[in-house]
Amino acid sequence: MFVSERVVALFCYATTRVVPRENFLNRLWIHLSSRNGARGFLFGQGRIIVTELLFHTDAYLKEFDAQVVAAEGERVALDRTALYARSGGQPSDFGILVGNGVTFRVVDSKKQGDEVWHHLDNAGLQVGDTVRGVVDWERRYKLMRTHTALHILCGVIFRDYGASVTGGAMEPLAARMDFEFDRMSAEFAHEVEGRINAEVAAAREVRAKILPRAEAFEIPDLIRTKINLLPPGIEHVRVVEIVGLDLQADGGTHVANTREVGTIRVVGHESKGKINKRLRIEIGD
Ligand SMILES: [Zn+2]
Repeated sequence: MFVSERVVALFCYATTRVVPRENFLNRLWIHLSSRNGARGFLFGQGRIIVTELLFHTDAYLKEFDAQVVAAEGERVALDRTALYARSGGQPSDFGILVGNGVTFRVVDSKKQGDEVWHHLDNAGLQVGDTVRGVVDWERRYKLMRTHTALHILCGVIFRDYGASVTGGAMEPLAARMDFEFDRMSAEFAHEVEGRINAEVAAAREVRAKILPRAEAFEIPDLIRTKINLLPPGIEHVRVVEIVGLDLQADGGTHVANTREVGTIRVVGHESKGKINKRLRIEIGD
């Protein structure tokens, strides 16, 4: 039980805090530090940075403007970003930031508290600089299709077989997911493949919403994704719903309709323990 809860938490629950006041403080801090000519003087001294996660409200946003709120060698934190920071099993986006006429490649993005840090191929950006960010859309869209495929898979497995997820991982167009099953077979994998592709064909709408904590806790479907493990300080919960199939607390990026996923193939099945069985999937057009 402990392992199961821990991995579900790792894989498919992510949270968000939407606190405009703190973004205001970001801007105030930039203003003050720029005005004093002491860029970054608050670095590491109780500064308040909350990166607005633009991909939480619009997964299809490909370009954005932002301001550098912290810089440390080849990595920068922005006040807002559309570049996904790896978490919940979904890998980081790649892309570029253009500032002061120079193009920097984003090679990794990580969350650190409420900040998103973009790791660049070069140093050079400073606190207060404005940048134009562009998401590597080809990669991101593949990850969106793959992540939604995983939600279809765990939705179908829970609905039809009553089994919960114990873990998972994804890369563009390929993923694996582990379930609390005591048996697994090629016939079963084949049956699951038919059922998940039926959900793609059903063209179900996929919605992401950010709800106040109390409201999220009133949704019975969220209980199975261990929403009760959310730390008390989390005020808002982002939920992703595949209408009529799946609903879970989730921080990832998803396509807007299951038909965008494409064809899902179950390419492997294996035992990872007495009550832990793995399915591998690949996504095609
Ligand atoms: Zn997810």
